[in-house]
Amino acid sequence: MLLIAVVALGLGSTSALSATAVSSTNAAQMPTLGDTSDMSSSDERRLGDRIAREMYRDPDYLDDPVLAEYVQGIWQPLLAAARARGDLSPELAERFAWEIMLGRDRTVNAFALPGGYLGVQLGLIAVVSSRDELASVLGHELSHVTQRHISRLISKQGKQTPWMIGAMILGALAASKNADAGSALIVGGQAVAAQNQLNFSRDMEREADRVGFGVMTEAGFEAQGFVSMFDKLQQASRLTDNGAYPYLRSHPLTTERIADMQARVAQTAPGPIKVALTLEHALVAARARVLSNADVDALRTWQAQADSASLSTQAVPRQAGIWYGAALAASQLRDFAQARVDLERLRSLVTGDADATRLARLLQAEIVLRASDAVGAQAALNAILTAAAAPGAVAAQDQASTTRRPELLLAAQIALQAGLVAQPDSAGGSAAVKTSAVQLQNWVAAHPRDAQAWQLLSSVQAAQHQTLRALRADAETQVARLDYAAALDRFKAAQAFSRQQPSGQAQANGGASASQAAADYIDASIIDTRQRQVQLLLKEQTLDR
Ligand SMILES: [Zn+2]
Repeated sequence: MLLIAVVALGLGSTSALSATAVSSTNAAQMPTLGDTSDMSSSDERRLGDRIAREMYRDPDYLDDPVLAEYVQGIWQPLLAAARARGDLSPELAERFAWEIMLGRDRTVNAFALPGGYLGVQLGLIAVVSSRDELASVLGHELSHVTQRHISRLISKQGKQTPWMIGAMILGALAASKNADAGSALIVGGQAVAAQNQLNFSRDMEREADRVGFGVMTEAGFEAQGFVSMFDKLQQASRLTDNGAYPYLRSHPLTTERIADMQARVAQTAPGPIKVALTLEHALVAARARVLSNADVDALRTWQAQADSASLSTQAVPRQAGIWYGAALAASQLRDFAQARVDLERLRSLVTGDADATRLARLLQAEIVLRASDAVGAQAALNAILTAAAAPGAVAAQDQASTTRRPELLLAAQIALQAGLVAQPDSAGGSAAVKTSAVQLQNWVAAHPRDAQAWQLLSSVQAAQHQTLRALRADAETQVARLDYAAALDRFKAAQAFSRQQPSGQAQANGGASASQAAADYIDASIIDTRQRQVQLLLKEQTLDR
């Protein structure tokens, strides 16, 4: 489906081509003192934003809170290590997005994009056996960004405008996915050309291996993960049909890379260490596998695996992964009775492991909610929150700030569903809705780029009949997805709504409505300010074409 985005982007660039061709080639060819003629970091960020905006619109883009949190748990330590080692300068740390975008595709792929965006396909999460293996790939990709390989590659494109390059990158990505035969044919020729031009050089790959290895080990991940990931890719490269591994095409395992890696590991990791599959990782990988392939046959295959007689002879993490996948698959097939049975098996296997128990309960809440049982979902969520607040777990002085993102988003969904069922049109909504509104508001204040949290906040506010605030949160959702035109529409709708409301004086016939009028006045001025800011952002975005 990225193909559509490519076409749209291509048209946009062509119409504005003459204007930008002049300015960007001038900028690229202008020699700068004491610097190379590489693309500046702010230009690279703008190009990255443009690509990211197209990717957010792609139906394959997936903000799954559980998988996103798991990947963040690897990504943040890598970033911190890169900063500590001096690979990542404070200037670049500030200027780039450093954001991971998950894709629903089942191909094994990860790719660095301009401006500090990193694409990770679910197929990669599904195929790695440990956090360490995933860290080795992310550390490598991170190093392409910090070593400014992307800006060098783009500068080499010479006469191409950055926006043409953006279209090429999106085209190459579309071609690397499990596209159906028809669309693969359409982009085929163009994408192959694009990939050859945009591939990193062998030297860049070796540098990314070297720096990435340093970053991942300094971040506390096992060097062994680097080796076992190489082994995994090597085995895949021997398959005659390794089309599911686009990562191999962009990262051929040259003899130099393998020799470098062996020398490096011999220095740091004496003797072979067997990387054990943890329960937590087994569940996360199962989730990635099911979410990346949701057609009915694939879902039935998951269920069949749980029925296999040999299942009980396998290692516990592997069994737990199968049950997790079976429960998720059953719920996607809307067989909730079966899903509950599978969940019970899963729960009995993970008892005693806090991380895996939490993931099992999150899945339970998700499944029960999908079965429209908000009360059951709330009970599952309460069990998680109780466990998190128990002595020995996190310090829970401030419940709102210690709530983790998957729990926060799920709580809002549960509150919304419970509110709809219990009291369809009661003003103010349920207490749970109010609590969620406060928690989400605190969250977006700290994470203003979290589109999903803004979207839920908008729904929660709408449920409380706070129309003005709901419109603003909806606008912020679009800002977070870098779609400033759509955001501006929503801000204008909010302003129009605000003007239609009776004025403060006319309403001031009681304490409550007077304070409501004051709150509306504050909201309206925030909206005016944000509308002007986003108008400017949109203007810049349009000039950038
Ligand atoms: Zn690479």
